[in-house]
Amino acid sequence: MAKDYYKILDIPEFSTAEEIKSAYRHLARKWHPDIAGSSPDVIAKFKEINEAYEILSDRIKKADYDTARRFYSYAKSTSKNTESPKKETQQTKKQGFAFNWDDFISKKYREPKKETPKRGDDIYSDVEISVFEAAGGTTKIINMLQTQICPKCGGRKFVNASKCPYCKGKGETSTYKRFNVKIPAGIKDKSKIRLAGEGEKGTNGGANGDLYLTIHIKEPASYKTDGLNILKTIPVAPFEAVLGAEITIPTLKGNISFKIAPNTQSGQKIRLSGCGIVQNNKVGDMIVTVEIQIPKNLTQEEINLYKKLSEVSSGRVRE
Ligand SMILES: [Zn+2]
Repeated sequence: MAKDYYKILDIPEFSTAEEIKSAYRHLARKWHPDIAGSSPDVIAKFKEINEAYEILSDRIKKADYDTARRFYSYAKSTSKNTESPKKETQQTKKQGFAFNWDDFISKKYREPKKETPKRGDDIYSDVEISVFEAAGGTTKIINMLQTQICPKCGGRKFVNASKCPYCKGKGETSTYKRFNVKIPAGIKDKSKIRLAGEGEKGTNGGANGDLYLTIHIKEPASYKTDGLNILKTIPVAPFEAVLGAEITIPTLKGNISFKIAPNTQSGQKIRLSGCGIVQNNKVGDMIVTVEIQIPKNLTQEEINLYKKLSEVSSGRVRE
């Protein structure tokens, strides 16, 4: 027996959305188990009212339902003119196929879980890591926006004839999910890491999609790598090269200070032991190459001092 949702809500077929809503509110209050009691009859009635509203309050579902309902009434009325109507399902066979709109509505809306399982879509995202992290391996924290069916309204968008306050009538909610992504040592640029089942949720029991992360290795211009060693050139001022200096640079172990000996030449290398890339219980060094640079925008005072230096200098660099 097919359900007539208009009869259930006690309204004429061509009611407006407002009229449907108001009829539903009235009946939902009247038949609410908190008010009408929780006998099986009341619960069945209450469910029926909600079911009717679920279809009639949704523009698309309602259009489908109206079409099916008209077709059903037509099939029924034409079958009455035949001489020996037998069963309901046979009545409609004269149209060339059996049609039962209760089934139709059930299949379409009421039991979506019985529909064909559909696998969720894959999601693609990018992760940027440094050359050091690529060489030594690392763990990155990634936050991904994930969308799921609203737990409050179950995707129906409405709760008691009002927009679901939890999802604001969207039927789904989005939250950030945090992943600790382990990136193996020696990973190559543009490699993909797959997190199985972390893509879009599957529907009707279908498997979830996967999350694919593309690794982008950014190489800072001022650093190069050679195996586990990190190579870096550092500029020093002429007076630092002559007099010696203490210099602080960032390394994977944090900031490290080291001394430049007096009379250091341009191109001289300093090895900072254990400050390179760590991989498989091995650790490289940082190799610093000194490069003497003359500061730009020397002040007049500095230039005067260089003049004085040129007068008194005995240094013969070209000998
Ligand atoms: Zn909701």
